[in-house]
Amino acid sequence: MRIILLGAPGVGKGTQARLLCEHHRIPQISTGDMLREAVRDGGELGRRAAGFMNRGELVPDEVIVGLVSERIAADDCRRGFLFDGFPRTLAQARALEWKRVAIDAVVEIVVSDEEIIRRLGGRRTHPASGRAYHIEYNPPKVEGVDDLTGEPLVQRDDDRPGVIARRLETYHEQTAPLVGHYRDIADQGCLRYLAVDGAGDIRQVGQRILEQLA
Ligand code: AMP
Repeated sequence: MRIILLGAPGVGKGTQARLLCEHHRIPQISTGDMLREAVRDGGELGRRAAGFMNRGELVPDEVIVGLVSERIAADDCRRGFLFDGFPRTLAQARALEWKRVAIDAVVEIVVSDEEIIRRLGGRRTHPASGRAYHIEYNPPKVEGVDDLTGEPLVQRDDDRPGVIARRLETYHEQTAPLVGHYRDIADQGCLRYLAVDGAGDIRQVGQRILEQLA
């Protein structure tokens, strides 16, 4: 099964990606997590990406396409994979098509901008795993630390108010056109397109996705 999880920042893609990947036993390919790891490593890629990320803008397509092409060639992707946060532009989607990477399903998680702003403002993240919490809606068992490792949670640099607004703008300008793109491909019968309501708690949303994908 090859799945694309589509949606604005803060709709819960990362959290739902983890649940879906466990269910289907496929790897989660999060370009955001890969880039944050590269930034922590401090190499050339990380240095190039950090400025774009901190401004809430997209990292150039050729960097992302290179990163993803290398990742999906790995052995663990033979049975499928789930893209979380990729593709984010029409050029990235077209790069997949040129490479003949067939996708089975696109799952769009739909949440209003006001709710996204509430969610991202209260989000706290465990940097090493990408696990996300919310100070009100999904707090960790012990304040400020990750449930599984006990390591400290942080607020991502790009989850600060000015950057959140820019990320949403970037989404509407550059990523939202993918909705029409993939709906058209679905109309031709080449993949399934599911739009899932992202309101409610994590388990309810997860259940909705699994039911619609079944
Ligand atoms: P995310 O964790 O998916 O919200 O990604 C965090 C940031 O990484 C984004 O705001 C972008 O700057 C960058 N990024 C992640 N995935 C992509 C992508 N597919 N294309 C371009 N930039 C990306």
